[in-house]
Amino acid sequence: MSDIRITNCHTHLFHARHVPEDYPYPALKPFKKMPWLIKGLAFGARLIGQHTVAEKLDRLYRFQRETDAGSQRDILDNLRRHYPSGTRFVVLPMEMSAFGFGAPAVPLSAQHDELAKLSGDPEVGRSVIPFATIDPRADPQAKELWRAIDGLKFRGLKLYPRLGFAPDDPVLMQHVYPRLEELNLPVMSHCSRGGVQGRYLSDYWADRYTEPEAFVPVMRAHPKLRICLAHFGGQRDWDAYVNPDRKNPLDDAFNRNWQVAIRHMIGSRNYPGLWTDISYTLFQFEDYAPFLRIFLTGEDEESERLRSRVLFGSDYYMTRQETLSERAVCFRLRNILGEEIFRQIAEENPAKWLGEV
Ligand SMILES: [Zn+2]
Repeated sequence: MSDIRITNCHTHLFHARHVPEDYPYPALKPFKKMPWLIKGLAFGARLIGQHTVAEKLDRLYRFQRETDAGSQRDILDNLRRHYPSGTRFVVLPMEMSAFGFGAPAVPLSAQHDELAKLSGDPEVGRSVIPFATIDPRADPQAKELWRAIDGLKFRGLKLYPRLGFAPDDPVLMQHVYPRLEELNLPVMSHCSRGGVQGRYLSDYWADRYTEPEAFVPVMRAHPKLRICLAHFGGQRDWDAYVNPDRKNPLDDAFNRNWQVAIRHMIGSRNYPGLWTDISYTLFQFEDYAPFLRIFLTGEDEESERLRSRVLFGSDYYMTRQETLSERAVCFRLRNILGEEIFRQIAEENPAKWLGEV
């Protein structure tokens, strides 16, 4: 096997105490507190022959166990065993105090601190690339964000607009992007129609804040800022792309497909700072990997450009809900893309996006 030093650009280590108790529904509380209830349900489903349901419950159990881990270190240890020893992980925290579900038990500053401690750990610290996060409603002066970047030496910014703010929110435009561009630090932003969403935010507005075009004003104002739109548009848009015959006039994914939009925006070279990652989406490996291969292996200029702007990422531990493991997806990707392209998206491109070369 060749010696690719993988950088996984999209992982999470935050745990249950970083999430408000009432999220996503207060009714789930007993399952969060007693995950063996899910195990019990899975056993019951098997008993009555509901094997698909049982498998889904097993995966939910695995996911729940992961969020239940006592520390970011525990989750990191679980993640590291899927990868070769030199692998690095961009770790993306989550700010969940201002999206309508109340405050989590552990505030963002403590989440940042724990992550900083992990990245300074003599044993595993070198594998961690910490990013800081902000919800502009929770931190209108961006004080905690700059404490993490200036004080704790975090290496980039994670945004989650679906929580209920636009990428060109005035707080971000005034207090965040200008200095980020100056410091040559990258941005990672959630870009799929799924995921966490503000409690009082309609799907319509959640999508307007999250869609690729929402970043156009930011990219115009800060052309040197490197912005990664995560998940390559997300599974719903990939599904709509792969199955045009299922066209539903009410489903925007068929009319304005985010995967297509990202490819065209990158391919056009009008947005030099735009990047994307394949996290989570490619865990539907059999369905989507052949398409990714075609997009990335073309001889034309658009494909060449796209090849230089796609990042390897997985979205661990969100992927614990899927059938394939991290290692399984990673090896399948290497097989289907070939070592050369895998090296480009997992080693070369991450180094450029992170501003290391
Ligand atoms: Zn993620």
